[in-house]
Amino acid sequence: ASVTSHPGRIEVITGPMFSGKSEELIRRLKRARIAKRRVACFKPDFDVRYHRTAIASHSAQTLDAITVANVAELRSVLMPRIDEVEVIGIDEAQFFDSALVSFSSELVHLGKRIILAGLDTTFTGEPFPPVPDLLAIADEVIKLSAVCVCCGSPAIHTQRLGSNQSLVLVGAAGLYEARCRACFQPWV
Ligand code: ADP
Ligand code: ZN
Repeated sequence: ASVTSHPGRIEVITGPMFSGKSEELIRRLKRARIAKRRVACFKPDFDVRYHRTAIASHSAQTLDAITVANVAELRSVLMPRIDEVEVIGIDEAQFFDSALVSFSSELVHLGKRIILAGLDTTFTGEPFPPVPDLLAIADEVIKLSAVCVCCGSPAIHTQRLGSNQSLVLVGAAGLYEARCRACFQPWV
């Protein structure tokens, strides 16, 4: 594939858990399909929340996705058929390595539309690599809020419940909830 004169576009959908990132990603990809664009969708293989072969939102919407272990595998799956793909969706971007940033730049220079969804902060409230760098190179950033389960305010944080301090612990129900800045307790 060669560099095209048509610029692509990087869109990043971010915010805490339950903010509707997957819903918005699915919505955009479905609309791209309605527009007869050829869409490919990927997610990391340790997000097995609801489906192994689909993106799923907490409201049970789904869209078929290809599961990959890392950016190297994403590249090896995508590049052989890159000329057949116009729109690339990536869910749970925070679980990919930092090579996702340069790979996204490469894809946008091939004229692709890349839509990434991912957490902007960890459950300790710190920036969650590589999402901050994706925000920096994006054409459009959509920052969504959830609803604080404590007070009903807009929630920007993901509260980890319980004491296990592993950063990567996906999807176990009741382990995380959305909290506003006032109700967030990262030290718990
Ligand atoms: P994300 O990908 O950001 O984790 P999803 O798209 O998977 O979010 O899920 C969003 C959906 O989660 C909402 O439409 C709503 O049905 C549900 N939901 C559950 N708890 C909350 C909450 N505290 N705030 C907002 N939405 C919530
Ligand atoms: Zn609150």
